[in-house]
Amino acid sequence: MGKLNVVMLRYLSREHFRVLTAVEMGMKNHEIVPASLIASIASLKHGGCNKILRELAKHKLLAYERTKTVQGYRLTNAGYDYLALKTLSSRQVISSVGNQMGVGKESDIYIVANEEEQQFALKLHRLGRTSFRNLKNKRDYHKHRHKMSWLYLSRIAAMKEFAYMKALHDREFPVPKPIDYNRHAVVMELVDGYPLCQVRQIEDPAAVYSELMDLIVKLANHGLIHGDFNEFNLILDNNDHATLIDFPQMMSTSHANAEWYFNRDVNCIKEFFKKRFYYESELFPTFKDIRRECSLDKEIAASGYAKEMQEDGELLYPMGSDEDDNTEMLELPEDAEKGLNFFSRNEQNSEDFPCEGKILTENAAELEDQAGQGGCHEAKENEEECPELVNSSALNEEFSHYSNEECIVPIAGHRTRTKSITSIRSVGSCSTIPPELVKQKIKRQLTKQQKSALKQRLQKGEANIYTKQRRENMHNIKSSLDAANFWG
Ligand code: ADP
Ligand code: MG
Repeated sequence: MGKLNVVMLRYLSREHFRVLTAVEMGMKNHEIVPASLIASIASLKHGGCNKILRELAKHKLLAYERTKTVQGYRLTNAGYDYLALKTLSSRQVISSVGNQMGVGKESDIYIVANEEEQQFALKLHRLGRTSFRNLKNKRDYHKHRHKMSWLYLSRIAAMKEFAYMKALHDREFPVPKPIDYNRHAVVMELVDGYPLCQVRQIEDPAAVYSELMDLIVKLANHGLIHGDFNEFNLILDNNDHATLIDFPQMMSTSHANAEWYFNRDVNCIKEFFKKRFYYESELFPTFKDIRRECSLDKEIAASGYAKEMQEDGELLYPMGSDEDDNTEMLELPEDAEKGLNFFSRNEQNSEDFPCEGKILTENAAELEDQAGQGGCHEAKENEEECPELVNSSALNEEFSHYSNEECIVPIAGHRTRTKSITSIRSVGSCSTIPPELVKQKIKRQLTKQQKSALKQRLQKGEANIYTKQRRENMHNIKSSLDAANFWG
């Protein structure tokens, strides 16, 4: 199992995070973000920005890439993890990271804790990690392939997971208590127990079997099908009661293939009990048994989560963007597609949403906040430390059955906590940054810094480079502004 190396969090300055965030924003419409665009978005001097970019690449938070048509940087998994962890720790949701306790199909799970040493599970979604075997088996899949970025898919998965977990927890379903989410990371209650797949013996298989079947029916009565209801996503406690986890693939009972997915969930449990506990029952629920009590599917689809996803979707994939980038884009896993369809099928009237105007994405808010703190022009290295995550080896003792690995992250020392004004939490937060501000910033950067730098080169007789760069810059800034309409 991998380790989440959060040591670097201590050493990164505000400018490092500013540049990381700028790359993240650039990736909304560029697979590889040119350095000039990063400097413009971050409002940093090119020289300073390049130095930071090189440092971030050295620590593998960014990767430098060069294709026939573009050269620049892209965010790595680690870079994205850092951004999410920093936000979650500045919101004081978590303050330490412990061992990795699970590797899911498309996620990494860690034990984390807050300042009061309360422990939680942190799930980092990694949707780019779609297994090749899965892809090959689904011939149909290739017909519908879409160009989707892993950043976007992982973020959507986290948002969906949080939305479902919250709705289910509010209605007292046996699911972990959701704590918070940011980007691709979800923080939730750490369930004490063993995944059903690891359980060899139970006292009363019939009772557990019927509890699980009842849960499938109860979900369906609320308009929902889990879609992956199996021994890997059920945690059994000491009293043999189950907690259901893993929700990004959940769907509505109104889904075109709902009955098929419902039966698959039921069959997974039937088969598992037969093989593992030699228990077979003639009783099992069918799709016809569903009696609608409540429409959680519609409620979630009408929530701010869905709205945010739709807006993001439009922003992330403007028509014709990056078509000629020549870079490899990730394919849309079937599950994610299913999820998106679920939301888009339930199109909502804008009146259904409490907030008017544009929802400001969190990273835009963070960037703006950093600017507000005056950190953009004079790069005062390490002037303000980022909230740190500390070692938490004690975390792992209680949950030692998850992993025997050594604890991660020896982050020692004491630092003052940065109080982030930015934390725009969860749903429906509304704020705007006037587009003029963004334009002004970029223009200012161009006129002052780039012009003088390019002038110098011109004097050295590099006229063609100047023209080329100017053209590229104009193009970049234009597309960045197009994409950055969400700023205001
Ligand atoms: P994936 O979507 O990648 O399958 P899961 O949410 O199923 O990820 O988590 C993978 C594994 O991590 C689970 O099988 C379980 O062992 C562990 N796990 C996940 N969430 C929790 C939690 N809240 N408490 C305890 N263990 C968890
Ligand atoms: Mg799972």
